[in-house]
Amino acid sequence: MTRSARPPRWMPVLLAATLLAACTQSVAGTGGVERWSATKVAGLDITTGDSGPRRGVAGSRLTADGGDGGRIDRLALDAVDDVQEYWTEVLPANFGKRFEPVTRLVSYDSGGAGPQVCGTGTAGLVNAFYCATDDTVAWDRGQLLPTLDDSFGPMSVVAVLAHELGHAVQFRLGATGAQTASIVKEQQADCYAGSFFRWVAEGNAPHFQLSTGPGLNQIMSTLFFIRDSAGTGFDAQGAHGNAFDRVSAFQFGFGDGPRRCAQIDEAEVRRRITQQASDDRVRDDGAADLPVDDPDALRALMTTLRNSYAPAGAEPPTVGAVLDGCPDAAPTRPAAYCPGTDTIGLDLDALVRIGSAPQPGRRGGIGDFAAFAEVASRYALSLQRVAGYPLRGVAAGQRTACLTGVWAGSIVAGRGAALRLSPGDLDEAVAEMLTADSLIAADVDGASVPSGFARVEAFRDGFSAPGTATCTAKYR
Ligand SMILES: [Zn+2]
Repeated sequence: MTRSARPPRWMPVLLAATLLAACTQSVAGTGGVERWSATKVAGLDITTGDSGPRRGVAGSRLTADGGDGGRIDRLALDAVDDVQEYWTEVLPANFGKRFEPVTRLVSYDSGGAGPQVCGTGTAGLVNAFYCATDDTVAWDRGQLLPTLDDSFGPMSVVAVLAHELGHAVQFRLGATGAQTASIVKEQQADCYAGSFFRWVAEGNAPHFQLSTGPGLNQIMSTLFFIRDSAGTGFDAQGAHGNAFDRVSAFQFGFGDGPRRCAQIDEAEVRRRITQQASDDRVRDDGAADLPVDDPDALRALMTTLRNSYAPAGAEPPTVGAVLDGCPDAAPTRPAAYCPGTDTIGLDLDALVRIGSAPQPGRRGGIGDFAAFAEVASRYALSLQRVAGYPLRGVAAGQRTACLTGVWAGSIVAGRGAALRLSPGDLDEAVAEMLTADSLIAADVDGASVPSGFARVEAFRDGFSAPGTATCTAKYR
């Protein structure tokens, strides 16, 4: 995040008090917004059962050129088989076309000599890809797939292949061509992968099963891992999207099905993409990170929070040191909200730990935006208290994530806020919401919403909403 050069403008207390009177009307009775269910994710029950390969089922009979018949190749072939079965079923139903399986599957080891695939040498090519020229899906069994499997489990391998086959579907539908921007093709492929995983979560896949709680979280963490690096413009050649955009596309497919994916085009992407264009990007090399314990930075944070929630009119809570003995809420870290005293308590050491850039082998660091968003989430609880909403339970956690998204949306670059988002910031929020103990999507006692998918969805709802009414109407 960066602070704007302009000095922050403080909102007069009187104005805040005046707006407070109007808040109950502005948040209540908003019709037309789809209600959310605390036990469901995109209409499916939140489940915590097994995710991964089904035990005791016969492996796929597909073969890959160059394959070694090892565990990773067998996993990849089972994945391709299920994804192709899915498309065989849904392509005719949704697009009136028969699905033809891809012509060729290739497994290679990027650590080896590397055969030519699609006119490219594969030595050192840590990747998986679809090649339209010869209708081939290829994967690196040497490094990419084992690394993903080790980090995120076998379903991450399935996710990568579902994405690549999404490109094959795209090619078959003829909707994209050489002129289509990379980001459009990649967003569609992520979306098609999402639609496949819904079919898996519904229990239809012969080789795999997926829980909508931890199972889906793992897949979204995979998308986070393979996101574009901060500072890549969305219009750059080969751009796939930041984690926020990739997870969004995946969620559209999971929630709304493959026809929603086919609607992704240049105009649609431009309307909602959060990754900045190549020409206005700022490289996030750490220079854009704010010291989160700097009093000026914290003051700027409070200014943006007051301003973004100003139409809802809450009197700002007091901010102080770590809370001891709050009468009516558990102490959470690095920030806590105490309803009884309307106070936010900060543990600055913990805040700095979360606010530092991630480093291999060191736990806890996500980035400055994650730290500030956690503070913002506690402020959002104060807003809910004033408006009379319960501060405990799953709906409170969802409302909190959504309201934190409203704040994030208010500091998008160019809107003149005292703080503004840098490339990579929203991805830090995604990373935080995919951790087991996310505070952004937690109630006043720190109990997190059980589904990462649901957390990110709520945050995005707020991020794309003009104000707080969507959050309070939907997440009840
Ligand atoms: Zn792709």
